[in-house]
Amino acid sequence: MLKTPDFVCVTIWWDLLMSVTPRPLIVGNWKMNGTAAFAADLAGALADRLADAGDIGFDLLVCPPAILIPAARAAAGTGSGTPSLAIGGQDCHPDTAGAHTGDMSVEMLRDAGCSYVIVGHSERRADHGESDELVQSKALAAQAGGLIPIVCVGETLAERDGGKAVEVVTGQLAGSVPTGSSAANLVIAYEPVWAIGTGRTPTLGDISEVHDAIRKCLGSLAKDAGNVRLLYGGSVKPENAAEILSVSNVNGALVGGASLKAGDFWGIAEACP
Ligand code: PEP
Repeated sequence: MLKTPDFVCVTIWWDLLMSVTPRPLIVGNWKMNGTAAFAADLAGALADRLADAGDIGFDLLVCPPAILIPAARAAAGTGSGTPSLAIGGQDCHPDTAGAHTGDMSVEMLRDAGCSYVIVGHSERRADHGESDELVQSKALAAQAGGLIPIVCVGETLAERDGGKAVEVVTGQLAGSVPTGSSAANLVIAYEPVWAIGTGRTPTLGDISEVHDAIRKCLGSLAKDAGNVRLLYGGSVKPENAAEILSVSNVNGALVGGASLKAGDFWGIAEACP
């Protein structure tokens, strides 16, 4: 059937109308930190807190460096919390196997117990020159292999100061999200590059503006755009988590530095509305 612009618009608004508030997801990005003992301690402490907390209103995920995933996974498995601590990768290769020295396939991550993978983090976009096209191919590979990609987008300080934040973020989104995605196989993280690891955060109004724009833009990229989880990332701490997590269209957080201490990370998760 030929889809007219009116039909597409009605479909998008119908999807948004039928959406429910997504269950918050709190993600710890450990980056290149830790050892096997550290990973086991931190994952074990979080698993214990989940077990003690019982019925919680959020999902908890940690993304250790690849080599520490088995240690974190083993420690997470000792907790009997429901839901349990989920494990994710920090990156994956778009190909299923082959001559890619130093890279990690989706199947390897799944085999190690992962259920999510971060793709397109600004540090990888900057350090490894990752383009939207490459990020999209990684997200697609993740979905095809049964992992949920957390697709990261975010503007630089120059872009924000130039009034281009929404334009840049929606452009990255259109280029990085596989078409036909759905809430079941996609998470988006808005991370202003200038807020990562700096202690600086956008105003709540600025976060709201970008998250609203992402939600709207997803209408033409994902089937049930209203249900896709949109995370905010960039200097989230226990002290500012409650106000950030209460912004509409913020459905969780991607946390770097503050995810390296169980107490701080748990404090952020507990701030979920
Ligand atoms: C991140 O690395 O994704 C991040 C948000 O870091 P931080 O919380 O330290 O700003």
